[in-house]
Amino acid sequence: MHKDIKEILLSEEEIAEIVSRISKQISEDYKDKNLLLVCVLKGSVCFMADLMRNISIPFKIEFLRAKSYLSGSTESAGEVEVRSEIDHLDEYDVVVVEDIFDTGRTLQRVTEKMLQDGAKSVSCCSLLDKPERRAEGVDLPLDYVGKTIPNAFVVGYGLDFDENYRGLPYVGILKPEVYGG
Ligand code: 5GP
Repeated sequence: MHKDIKEILLSEEEIAEIVSRISKQISEDYKDKNLLLVCVLKGSVCFMADLMRNISIPFKIEFLRAKSYLSGSTESAGEVEVRSEIDHLDEYDVVVVEDIFDTGRTLQRVTEKMLQDGAKSVSCCSLLDKPERRAEGVDLPLDYVGKTIPNAFVVGYGLDFDENYRGLPYVGILKPEVYGG
């Protein structure tokens, strides 16, 4: 285990089980639809890449940027900026692929943007869910959830602290002394 990690929350084996379960659900739910997987950069890249290799029906992919956390901080900045330029969105049933549903503001804002831009339908898939952290006014349902976790700052499997730790093959709790917590 990496020296800055206090505890592993999601092992490689558990991640593989989650990917397999959610890929099967999406493949079944979208078999008669025109599926577009939209990956929220950057934290969701590992999850997206694994889902892509396990979903058994045809689909297309896109990426968008959403920024809510201040660099070098473990707290959300509150406002979420979404940058996406997806063509022909009106042809697709979108599944947004996210790493963590925390305050929920990012997925809520991304969903609004996809619908504004004309998507036929939008559902949300998140590897992790931290329900204790939900912000007031966020009432978005999560359609596909990997695992519900307690309120701790986690890194690995795409998730960073100050752009580090994204390459860890598991999700772990970062030692608070690393971020001065
Ligand atoms: P939300 O808008 O739901 O508050 O936050 C979503 C984004 O905040 C996630 O996509 C992720 O980038 C970041 N985030 C939330 N919690 C954590 C965490 O525990 N660790 C890391 N690395 N990022 C987090």
